Amino acid sequence: MVDLHTHSTASDGTWPPGRIVEEAARLGLRAVGLTDHDSVDGNAELVEAGRALGVAVVPGVEISTRWKDVTFHLLGYGIDPRIPEVRAAFERLARSRETRAPRMVARLQNLGIPITLDEVRTEAGAALVGRPHVARVLVRKGVVRDVQDAFDRLLGRGKPAYVDKDRLDPAEACRTIRRAGGVAVLAHPGLIEEDAPDLLRPLLDHLVDLGLEGVEAFYSRHTREQQERYRSFAARRNLLVTGGSDFHEPGSDGPALGTGYGALKVPDACFEALARLLEDRRPELGPVLRPGL
Ligand SMILES: [Zn+2]
Ligand SMILES: [Zn+2]
Repeated sequence: MVDLHTHSTASDGTWPPGRIVEEAARLGLRAVGLTDHDSVDGNAELVEAGRALGVAVVPGVEISTRWKDVTFHLLGYGIDPRIPEVRAAFERLARSRETRAPRMVARLQNLGIPITLDEVRTEAGAALVGRPHVARVLVRKGVVRDVQDAFDRLLGRGKPAYVDKDRLDPAEACRTIRRAGGVAVLAHPGLIEEDAPDLLRPLLDHLVDLGLEGVEAFYSRHTREQQERYRSFAARRNLLVTGGSDFHEPGSDGPALGTGYGALKVPDACFEALARLLEDRRPELGPVLRPGL
């Protein structure tokens, strides 16, 4: 079993990358991938921990993007962040992340809501500040009933305190991943289907034209039927099949590392095929993907 989709403190996860690798080793996972939101900052620690513990690791990223009004995520595996164009793209995203929270807080203050950036930063702790942290502060202050209420009334898309992230468009995201020697994979297509059922098919065709090389068919929230449908799509289009939990936080009601909501089982073959492709493209990843050889 493998888990190719996890988040660390380099984005909105609770554990540093090294802790994720330790836990993967404890669970006996064959390989673990790190896919922080719009950030490659955790990958050096991931690779270091993989080497120290003899665990196969896959450095990666999860890029937020949008097409025709549907927002979705692209996973980039095995990218080399040292390439200037790639570094510039991620630096731009990081800058926009840093200004997003202050802009949200300013909007809330303009609405007469008493909230400060410090309160939000304290709530986030070591993690990057995100909307859930803002929402939890609002709940504590009695401004809203619960987190959902905060999103429905204030923080959701189109609501008064909403500030969008800076996003790469899909073509730019695919190009950035490919230039960096990486493999572009469509993350959790099931979530796109929930949002925009008619758009998934044309989006997949569009992404294949842009150089998409894989589909995340195995995912915590996919039904068995979705999993099989995405697998057969991938087979027909000659794409890789990948999978992962989308682990963020241990002991929460979110997905667990490796097993998701209990039924997730991502076969080793997903990792093996991805590793073969990456080793071809970036031979220096060999020792990372096959430690101990
Ligand atoms: Zn995602
Ligand atoms: Zn994710």
